[in-house]
Amino acid sequence: MSGGEVHNVIIIGSGPAGYTAGLYAARAMLSPLMFAGYMSGGQLMLTSDIENFPGYPQGIGGPEMMIQLREQAERFGLKVHDKNVERIDTSSQPYSVWVEGEEHKSHTLIICTGAEAIWLNAEGEAEQKGRGISTCATCDGAFFRDEEIIVIGGGDSAMEEATFLTRFASKVTLIHRREVFKASKVMYDRAANHPKIEIKTFRQVTKWLSDEKGLSGAILEDPRDGKTEEISCTGAFIAIGHKPITNFLENQIETDDSGYVIHKEHTMTSVPGVFAAGDVVDTRYRQAITAAGMGCQAAIDCERWLEDNIH
Ligand code: NDP
Repeated sequence: MSGGEVHNVIIIGSGPAGYTAGLYAARAMLSPLMFAGYMSGGQLMLTSDIENFPGYPQGIGGPEMMIQLREQAERFGLKVHDKNVERIDTSSQPYSVWVEGEEHKSHTLIICTGAEAIWLNAEGEAEQKGRGISTCATCDGAFFRDEEIIVIGGGDSAMEEATFLTRFASKVTLIHRREVFKASKVMYDRAANHPKIEIKTFRQVTKWLSDEKGLSGAILEDPRDGKTEEISCTGAFIAIGHKPITNFLENQIETDDSGYVIHKEHTMTSVPGVFAAGDVVDTRYRQAITAAGMGCQAAIDCERWLEDNIH
């Protein structure tokens, strides 16, 4: 165990929810410890411009915002380790958190591990991951300069990826399985009106095609009648949503069927003293601002729980 010390609160995960929880917990003099993950900062590290977080009239880059949130929380005393949590044990107080084989004890936990991209899992996908198929335009878009790219999905992520990729691609084809789009009107319009973007509805990728250089195209199927067609592309970006990162909880905290952590009382989970905030619980809003707000709520709930139950 790390020095026999029992922490007040360990925060697991470092997106806007985690850093805001850290900021509030630090300012409440709880000396919070955060395990930020090897890739700290969460999904916004992969986002180009954030235009809808209040207070940034010109927008701000995702990584830049996460660096600022971290600095702000650290200024008040949040201790951050860029390491992954392997598992937790909430069977007795204080709770245990294992990181690189080392046990850390804490009276409370705030889980802010967020979510990760879902893959399509069409035929041939595994072989082409990283050879043409990606889930992150900001990370990989620049590899496809003057090439033809497809983007799959009908939500805001797909619109954002498609629009962003026009910076590099000669053409972007947006593939969606039906004709109704989940995307907000402003983001749909931006993509639909872009001269480099073509939108194809009622299409599902059933198979990825490749040649010696990597991805070369895909077979698209119309879900209404099963008719297929071939599209050529050297890059493909899958933007069909995310799933929560909760496998390290090993069923100790109640989740829904999709793995999202369930709040029982305010931000507290099924285990007393274990709180959760951000995309790991949120199936509805999933915004940076709502995650930050929930991180604040979790830290306040955590502080009150410690007062009532421990101190
Ligand atoms: P969404 O759940 O909103 O959309 C997922 C899309 O993928 C849907 O159109 C869905 O189709 C499609 N899809 C799901 N599974 C499959 C599949 N197996 N095959 C083909 N298509 C599939 O996810 P997003 O990641 O787009 O957005 C998540 C949240 O993040 C939203 O709240 C969004 O507003 C927010 N967001 C905000 C941004 C911003 O404001 N800058 C940027 C990006 C995201 P169907 O419609 O048929 O279900």
